[in-house]
Amino acid sequence: MTAGEATVEATTTEQRRAALEAIAAEVRTCTRCRLAEGRTKAVPGEGHPDTEVLFVGEGPGQTEDAQGRPFVGRAGELLVKLLASIGWRRQEVFITNIVKCRPPGNRDPEPDEIAACAPYLQRQLEVLDPAVVVTLGRFSMAHFRPGERITQIHGTHAPAPAATGARDALAYALFHPAAALRSTDVERQSYDDMAGLPRVLGAARARRAGAPPESGNPPAEAPDAPIIPPDPGDDAPTLF
Ligand code: SF4
Repeated sequence: MTAGEATVEATTTEQRRAALEAIAAEVRTCTRCRLAEGRTKAVPGEGHPDTEVLFVGEGPGQTEDAQGRPFVGRAGELLVKLLASIGWRRQEVFITNIVKCRPPGNRDPEPDEIAACAPYLQRQLEVLDPAVVVTLGRFSMAHFRPGERITQIHGTHAPAPAATGARDALAYALFHPAAALRSTDVERQSYDDMAGLPRVLGAARARRAGAPPESGNPPAEAPDAPIIPPDPGDDAPTLF
């Protein structure tokens, strides 16, 4: 299967797990763009195959490149704290990036690199079919909410374009945790924005159930239902 080839529909947990692992295997040996030349390990992403919430960052940093896992450095530690602030754990969501290999020196990814890597994210979206895509930072936001400015739309949601691979998802914009590490103002806003995420999930569930659309701000009620089927024995992240 090539990076741009459609993914066979996965309807069970094991089918989704297998489909995600197949994508990850391709990512680990991918040479579709120049970022393959400098990477130590590609970082396909990891998380629960049944989750309703997908987090998409920019690209791997130094620690992620060394370990082959997303958000395991200082920004990842903050993401875990942000998730804990709403009672969620990283193994209950899926976490990936716009580009799966580290840009040299943590530079911004180039447009042709983002385009080369986009089919992998598209296929992950097709497999996971998330209700909410949380964009972390401006590159991820630009993919799911093109033409916007993160300083203006953080903490709001809008339908994710179907062309991204998201069948019926709301894209919720957050600052990148690395930006929050550099600014106490951004850190405070990140906690405020994260606090709105359960309510956005409620809106996404209502939307998928056929309720009338509502505006870009979260509705009043947060959902009670968990974001994955309960499995208290499953504490380890699923690695892909
Ligand atoms: S960034 Fe994406 S397209 Fe480029 S080499 Fe890595 S996996 Fe392949």
